[in-house]
Amino acid sequence: MNFAGIHGHAAARARLDKLAGHERIPQTMLFTGTSGTGKRLVAERFLSALFCTGAARPCLACEHCRQVIKEIHPDFITIRPNEKGTIPIGSDEKREPGSVRWLIERLSRKTVSGATAVIIDGIDRVTDEGQNALLKTIEEPSLSTCIIMIAEGKSRVLPTIVSRSIEIPFTPLSTEEVLLVLHERGESVSEPAVAAFLAGGSAGRAMMLADTQFREKLFRLCGDISTALNMNEMPILPADLPGKLVSTSTLLDIMINVYGSLLHAEIAGEVIPQGLPDSMRMKDHDRARVLIKILLALKQGQSHNLNFRIALKGLLYSLYFGGEMRGPGPLSFNI
Ligand SMILES: [Zn+2]
Repeated sequence: MNFAGIHGHAAARARLDKLAGHERIPQTMLFTGTSGTGKRLVAERFLSALFCTGAARPCLACEHCRQVIKEIHPDFITIRPNEKGTIPIGSDEKREPGSVRWLIERLSRKTVSGATAVIIDGIDRVTDEGQNALLKTIEEPSLSTCIIMIAEGKSRVLPTIVSRSIEIPFTPLSTEEVLLVLHERGESVSEPAVAAFLAGGSAGRAMMLADTQFREKLFRLCGDISTALNMNEMPILPADLPGKLVSTSTLLDIMINVYGSLLHAEIAGEVIPQGLPDSMRMKDHDRARVLIKILLALKQGQSHNLNFRIALKGLLYSLYFGGEMRGPGPLSFNI
């Protein structure tokens, strides 16, 4: 299997290499792991090989491979979350392109090349109802269909789907691998060392962190929260949140990694890259752990309509009244 140019994931790639050598490749697979590490890219390569007519498959040069890369291959279907961060179920009448019902209908049609490849890039972004609707397709796919579902973790995937799929876990990238990806992405990347340090092994997140505008807003938000907590005060969130630039889920992921990376480096005595404002560091490690727990709870409990500001305020508020915050407590609450 040609995985040239893809960094990391040696174990997953070795497993896929082995599976590709079987007479019949698995028809439903579930790729799990941190977002932004290259799972979709690996899935694309694996499935491209079904169509490729070149020598080292996928050759990335034949007509089929080129069509897959341009996303115009007639039998290669990818569905991914919309701007709200979800893959809609769609209705039987409308079957909006990219929805679950659209996919099911699409798979009932004849193929052009004799095989169909499907990537569901975010099965954990499909509601339970939508996943249930997909069950039959996943249980009994047509013999010529191969489906790869991608999820950050299994907790939001129905057990019936997990049990019918071969799971391939993906691990976060190393800092060196993230830096390599940033380097390959080119000149617009600013402060790559800072971005890689805070990205938690995700090249996708590192790319966002390398964006100056986003990073400034994020640093302001994290700096304001840390400074207030260091002073035993209730944080006042800045008016201009970075949530306007990325989805709430992504923002929470990044904040969890920012505080996690800082805490880990302080405990391990590692060097923190230059360019990180000192205001973001939490003096009290226990309090930093509680803050990370709050952000994780927010992420797990988030609905698709979560108002980040209100939810974070509520949870920070509960940090005080829930008895987790030690010390004299805040003098005033300006929320
Ligand atoms: Zn090819």
